[in-house]
Amino acid sequence: MEDHKDSMINEDQELHTDTKKNENKINKKQEDEYEKVCFVCRRPESKAGKMISMPNDINICSDCMQKTFDTMSNSNFNYEDLAKFSNMNMINLSDLQSSIPKKQKIKKKKEEQEKPEKVLDIKSIPAPHQIKASLDDYIIGQEYAKKVVSVAVYNHYKRVASNTMDEIEIEKSNMLMIGPTGSGKTYLVKTLAKLLDVPLAITDATSLTEAGYIGDDIESVVSKLLAAAGNDVEKAERGIIFIDEIDKIAKKKNTNQRDVSGESVQQGMLKLLEGSEIEVPVGANSKNAMVPLVTVNTRNILFICGGAFPDLDNIIKERLNKQATIGFQSDLKDKYDDDKNILSKVTLEDIKTFGMIPEFIGRLPIVFTLQGLDKQMLVQILKEPKNAILKQYQKLLALDEVLLEFEDKALEAIAEKALEKNTGARALRAIIEEFMLDIMYEIPKDENIGRVIITEKYIRHTGGPTIDMRGTVELLEESKGV
Ligand code: ADP
Repeated sequence: MEDHKDSMINEDQELHTDTKKNENKINKKQEDEYEKVCFVCRRPESKAGKMISMPNDINICSDCMQKTFDTMSNSNFNYEDLAKFSNMNMINLSDLQSSIPKKQKIKKKKEEQEKPEKVLDIKSIPAPHQIKASLDDYIIGQEYAKKVVSVAVYNHYKRVASNTMDEIEIEKSNMLMIGPTGSGKTYLVKTLAKLLDVPLAITDATSLTEAGYIGDDIESVVSKLLAAAGNDVEKAERGIIFIDEIDKIAKKKNTNQRDVSGESVQQGMLKLLEGSEIEVPVGANSKNAMVPLVTVNTRNILFICGGAFPDLDNIIKERLNKQATIGFQSDLKDKYDDDKNILSKVTLEDIKTFGMIPEFIGRLPIVFTLQGLDKQMLVQILKEPKNAILKQYQKLLALDEVLLEFEDKALEAIAEKALEKNTGARALRAIIEEFMLDIMYEIPKDENIGRVIITEKYIRHTGGPTIDMRGTVELLEESKGV
């Protein structure tokens, strides 16, 4: 019996020491998440090195401590002079004490978890049809564009991985993408980079200027990519740079002035596109004496330029009409006026007429167009992609155990409204957010609501959504045999 009691006490003690140990561990862990900050220069321990701890949780780094000693040991030093000179009063530490925060520490930045590096080798690059199949999950329509991109990307990374420089050097697969606003240009590139797990930098051509002018240097796109690659040069050198609104740097017609934002930017980009060694600042987008520089080779970086190229359709039409009048089919002069897919007939000559210089076009060997989206495609975009907007809202309401449904006619009405705005699929989200706001606000108020059906009338502002209570939803489903 005694023995039993003893062992019970021992167990109790063990338990006690165990919890104490655990507490200590947790405290230590919490402590580990914070680092000390120098009271004088405000640098954290990770930058300033080991700290000297003083009462009242004050820490001072060894640099500042050394400086203090140096100043003190300087025999010519006169405190009064210093006070006069810097208009500063001597600080009384005891005054400060009330204002010193208890903990002179800041939370350490969480170290990013190292993901296993995906090294591209020929065998692991997915075949073009697989790349396209993955793109299909996200991007509606644009079949031709997806096909071209898949093949180009496949070839590009095969070239990068093989790295063999035989007599037949495989040309770089830089691309020029032409398509109306909101047709999915940026989305296509973003999806591609995500699927391939390569860093991506997106820039607007309008913000680029020749070095020395106000705006971003052309080379700043490379430092953006380096940042996207977490300052890993090797990773950045396999990345993708997307330059949007490339049509905005077309050569201006009839100007005598020096064209800093157009033609010269195109000129400036030539070296970058074709592959050269660029010195970029690490962690900043401008070079100055304070930031270290690294060299990034753009030879294997895939450049994709995109733009809406307004008026390009007229240039194409004009060319086609001219050809038609020369031949014996002169009666078909206006044949192309109603051609919706006129952009797909683009030639390098048309792009040159638009204002891109031949050297620039020459460095973008793959040119393709994206279609403007029609009503049917907009409806599909609403509901079919893996992360479709409707699916996102359905998931949100499902968390409140509410079913969200949309009448087919309602989706068509949303698509029609989006078409009116002329900004492609971009308008969809704004339209949906507008009417979903009320739904998302009102529904969680009443726990009895089991289902909301968005009706065409609700979209067209001639009625409200259909709302079913919990009991009735089950009954309805049962009667339908679900
Ligand atoms: P662009 O760059 O051509 O002006 P975006 O790529 O920015 O247009 O498109 C805006 C949004 O519209 C994207 O974020 C995407 O959600 C949606 N979108 C556009 N086109 C498509 C498409 N073909 N398939 C799926 N979503 C699309």
